[in-house]
Amino acid sequence: MYDDIPEAVRQSVKEPSRTKLPRLALLLGGGALGILAIAFLLMRISSPPAPQASTPASAPNTSAVQPTPAAAPVTAPVTASSPSPDALLGHLAYAEAPAEELVAITADGQIKLRSAAAAAYEKMKDAAAAEGINLLPISGFRSVSDQDDLFFRVKEQRNQDVSKRAEVSAPPGHSEHHTGYAVDIGDADQQETNLDQTFENTAAFRWLAANAAQYSFELSFPRDNPQGVSYEPWHWRFVGDRNSLETFYRAQNLKSNVP
Ligand SMILES: [Zn+2]
Repeated sequence: MYDDIPEAVRQSVKEPSRTKLPRLALLLGGGALGILAIAFLLMRISSPPAPQASTPASAPNTSAVQPTPAAAPVTAPVTASSPSPDALLGHLAYAEAPAEELVAITADGQIKLRSAAAAAYEKMKDAAAAEGINLLPISGFRSVSDQDDLFFRVKEQRNQDVSKRAEVSAPPGHSEHHTGYAVDIGDADQQETNLDQTFENTAAFRWLAANAAQYSFELSFPRDNPQGVSYEPWHWRFVGDRNSLETFYRAQNLKSNVP
């Protein structure tokens, strides 16, 4: 097996086998390193870390045999602030934005987004207005309890089962609106299309489709999206900073791994 390795190197590779204990330690260390490497690869390729995946990393580090640098950067960002890897009825889990980060995007203060998203939205709205397009914010940040009401009350009113309801509304804890980065937009001049797929025929939608990316907004649920959520031409999310990008794209990676 070591035939291709020069004599000097071969020697150092074989060396630990002279005494049993260090060899065992090396094997254990190597095994742990292998697990780490595999865990790292899996994470890079899109799969969620099992909650335990980070624990073996720290345990064997006490043995001097094993180099540790691979462990820290791998586990830290994933556990930090990312949404939990569970998906419910096709919707991903999201944490509520901290209240102090929310900024109003309407004069009455009723509709709020996280500050970075709010600033980008204001710029986008002004740019659209300069071209005669009047974007109308319909809904922004929503708390988990707001969503609770929206999901279950409307479900009962409409006599829908949960899967039917989930095609058009996220269960509480699983709405992009919790993040403060998602905003439902209408056309102030065609409000009969609000929250309806006919919104795609409005000047506002055409303008957004052509320009929203300049302001780091994107459509969350285009036609035939992999989440199986119905087409929502009015629902846009901000992906213009690190936290928003990680919030949505890490969640997607996690979702793609859910059977
Ligand atoms: Zn929405």
